[in-house]
Amino acid sequence: MLQVTDLHTFYGTSQALFGMSMTVGAGEVVTLLGRNGMGKTTTVRSIMGLTPPRSGTVMFEGAVITGLPSFKVAQAGLGLVPEGRQIFGNLTVRENLIATARPGPWDLTAVHAMFPRLRERGGNMGNQLSGGEQQMLAIGRALMTNPRLLILDEATEGLAPLIRQEIWHCLSGLKAAGQSILLIDKNIEPMLRLADRHYLIEKGRVVWSGTSPELEALPELRQRYLGV
Ligand code: ATP
Repeated sequence: MLQVTDLHTFYGTSQALFGMSMTVGAGEVVTLLGRNGMGKTTTVRSIMGLTPPRSGTVMFEGAVITGLPSFKVAQAGLGLVPEGRQIFGNLTVRENLIATARPGPWDLTAVHAMFPRLRERGGNMGNQLSGGEQQMLAIGRALMTNPRLLILDEATEGLAPLIRQEIWHCLSGLKAAGQSILLIDKNIEPMLRLADRHYLIEKGRVVWSGTSPELEALPELRQRYLGV
């Protein structure tokens, strides 16, 4: 479904990706793992057209989408829950949800069923929400675009344990429904449970990839590259 090949991405003259390659298959949940600053967010930004790669290709469902503007990438079927949520603080919750909506099974009713809180807070401004509510809104907003691949960058960061659990529960529901997901997070245990495959990134390239059971069997790898 998603095929990323040999990406080299720069911020000005500073290179962040050095031949990053990875794939996500239909219905798969795949993670990008690695310590801070190793290039996980940059990989997502390269895929989404936010920081286009200098070389390499991004293919989605057979079409080359490398370097397309991000609204085109979204139209192609990729939905991003960005690091830091980036919801519209000056729009209401409902307006945030419908701002980028596209036709499909995920509409207001479906998102409200998944996050009843968002219905209750529908008339509140985005900047009046708690961190957990903002994160639900960011996920709901991405789902409203009816993405065939959902990408989440640090979706549980800075959240209280209970809300974190709720997000993981929601993601496993999405997986059970067949949603393809690319995930970045610092919490390795829930990712081991949820994900099919993992890519370990160091200095802008993949240094290991494998399944959850394979990663679980390699504590020294986790220690070395993740510090857990
Ligand atoms: P984190 O968990 O901290 O977000 P990450 O693995 O997502 O880490 P990236 O954010 O992709 O890492 O960063 C990769 C490299 O690119 C780092 O060296 C970082 O300092 C650099 N970098 C990231 N964003 C920028 C930017 N806007 N301008 C310049 N350099 C950047």
